[in-house]
Amino acid sequence: MTAHDRATGILTIDLDAIADNWRRLAARAPGAEAAGVVKADGYGLGAAAVARSLRQAGCKTFFVATIDEGIALRPIVGDARILVLGGVLPGTGADFIGHGLIPVLNSLEQIGLWSGFAQAAAKTLPAALHLDTGMNRLGLDRAAIDLVVDDRRRLAGIDTMLVMSHMACADEPEHGKNPEQLAAFQSMSESLALSTPRSLAASSTIFLGPDYHFDLIRPGAALYGLNPVPGQPNPMRPVLRLASRILQVRDVDTPQTVGYGASHRFKSKGRVATVAFGYADGLFRSLGNRGFGVIGGIKVPVVGRISMDLTTFDVTAVPPEHVHAGAMLELIGPDHDCDQLALEAGTIGYEVLTALSRRYLRDYIGGNG
Ligand SMILES: *Cc1c(COP(=O)(O)O)cnc(C)c1O
Repeated sequence: MTAHDRATGILTIDLDAIADNWRRLAARAPGAEAAGVVKADGYGLGAAAVARSLRQAGCKTFFVATIDEGIALRPIVGDARILVLGGVLPGTGADFIGHGLIPVLNSLEQIGLWSGFAQAAAKTLPAALHLDTGMNRLGLDRAAIDLVVDDRRRLAGIDTMLVMSHMACADEPEHGKNPEQLAAFQSMSESLALSTPRSLAASSTIFLGPDYHFDLIRPGAALYGLNPVPGQPNPMRPVLRLASRILQVRDVDTPQTVGYGASHRFKSKGRVATVAFGYADGLFRSLGNRGFGVIGGIKVPVVGRISMDLTTFDVTAVPPEHVHAGAMLELIGPDHDCDQLALEAGTIGYEVLTALSRRYLRDYIGGNG
């Protein structure tokens, strides 16, 4: 038997759809370069496969979160630029240089480290500067920027190749914080007077309009098919299918219950399908008695709690020919997307994607092999 025939949970990832989403986003910001954010193993879908496919589509700049993600990405993307969002930490300078990684400098401390490293090596080293325009997470605030402006020697040895910031509320287009952060970014970046390319837009920010595009856009979520404009039709191509096998089907009747805690009680005769995935595969326990799957084109509710490796669905409404041991039940797909599942779980699509387990068989389609 092949691994594919044997597999219980199968994750199908459409690399052509990811590349196409990248092109769609690039087309929305015609004056800007489109980068690709592949941190957290490409949002759980496999950074290597994703980056290879984006590289082929023409992506020349990649963002990761950690140095090790950058090191792993280097042989995949050839001479493309790799920026590390977490920035430089004491002692990591040689790793950045050895693997051609560019730190995003988030604080005066990081600027000092990188500048010191460049001067010690008698080199000019590239870096991005991250400005904090309202997230209060990472980045230079106005006081830190003033210190840099007052003493330019702080940037000695640093080739600032990008000035960037990150938006807090871009998925709410009417939120007052959006224009506030835009204005702060304009004025803070201008006070640096660096004639450097600028970047403000992650996925949702791209859809706030051209004022927000600047010179480089940095989409992540939308590449992977998540809806960057919640509440409106999703402009992205679907990327993901997640299905798992039914292990057993049983007839039930009142007053039986299902699963741990006996949290679901049957009110009438029905059928339950037990499917081979659970919270160890990234199905949040909050989906218990709240989530849905799809089989034979029919939406079926989760009944009972999510177990580690098993989830039970009420399949009473589905014609019996679709429901048998070995048949696949879809949890994520065109009829029930990742954003919808996230809503049922009380979270966001980002968390659903990055929680997908390594236990699934990963089936990559497209991407020129
Ligand atoms: C994660 C991240 C992105 C990508 O955000 P999406 O909402 O997934 O498009 C862009 N910029 C920074 C600084 C990030 O941390």
